[in-house]
Amino acid sequence: MEKVINAENISYTYKKGVKAVDNISFHIGKSEVLGFLGPNGAGKSTTLKMLIGFLNSQTGKIDILGKNMAHNTDEIQAEIGVCFEEKNLYEDMSAIENLKFHASLYGIKRPDVNAILKKVDLDKRGKDKVASYSKGMRQRLMVARSLVNKPKILFLDEPTDGLDPVSAKAIRKVIREEKERGASVFLTTHDMLEADKLSDRVAFIDKGKIAAIDTPDNLKHEYGKRTLKIRYQENGQVKEEELSLEAKDIGKRIEEIRSQYKLHDMHTEEATLEDIFIQVTGRGLE
Ligand code: ADP
Ligand code: MG
Repeated sequence: MEKVINAENISYTYKKGVKAVDNISFHIGKSEVLGFLGPNGAGKSTTLKMLIGFLNSQTGKIDILGKNMAHNTDEIQAEIGVCFEEKNLYEDMSAIENLKFHASLYGIKRPDVNAILKKVDLDKRGKDKVASYSKGMRQRLMVARSLVNKPKILFLDEPTDGLDPVSAKAIRKVIREEKERGASVFLTTHDMLEADKLSDRVAFIDKGKIAAIDTPDNLKHEYGKRTLKIRYQENGQVKEEELSLEAKDIGKRIEEIRSQYKLHDMHTEEATLEDIFIQVTGRGLE
């Protein structure tokens, strides 16, 4: 498999002595979405900043698109798209002007700004000044801006955090489309549903370390206990029973219930990524 990102033993300690990222290794393949899931302060943004060449890893090495980050920063930065927590849009310029200006920094002469704005459902507001934009619209414009150079890898730092549902949905749609186009995505989030829905693989990050990394399905099978919830009527009352799917006598118990009572409904319940995160790290995502 082609590794578009390969990080080996990377670390970062801030001046005040905070070990934000502690000797972690991982890779991302072509067209792969890696969800970096962890609570506030886990080290997600610091990792992202090292991957994009904004901070230098103090140990190990980072290869992006087959090139070493420390020695080819400019070349790599021309091939990637970044959407950060800090918003640095020009308030007095329209969305179209912001995108055109950003494209000019990449030496792109005629960016298809309308097509890019359409991707985030801002095409009808393209001529309006950013000063008139809501928080969600600004964030959608930040995401649109990260697409102007048709990046091979997208880096998105909590792109939907605190957004209205319409904006969050537009951004999630862009992530799926970019993957379809062949781009890889490094996505940080503390939203377990977002990580579950969008990621090919999820890394659990806690206190600067990767506690687990795998596909959401594998994580659920490895750690989560799956259960069957079965509801039936007994003397006019609804009773509920939970059976482990791993239990040997599950078939026998279902037969017992079926033969004695009126069955209401039954459905399987899977552990959520947050349940598993708690199991692996001993703490939750909030
Ligand atoms: P996350 O993005 O997962 O919330 P961060 O990477 O921002 O986590 O932070 C990881 C740790 O590093 C936290 O303890 C945070 O307080 C600390 N940290 C982040 N930025 C700085 C900074 N500029 N100076 C000092 N400490 C920082
Ligand atoms: Mg962060």
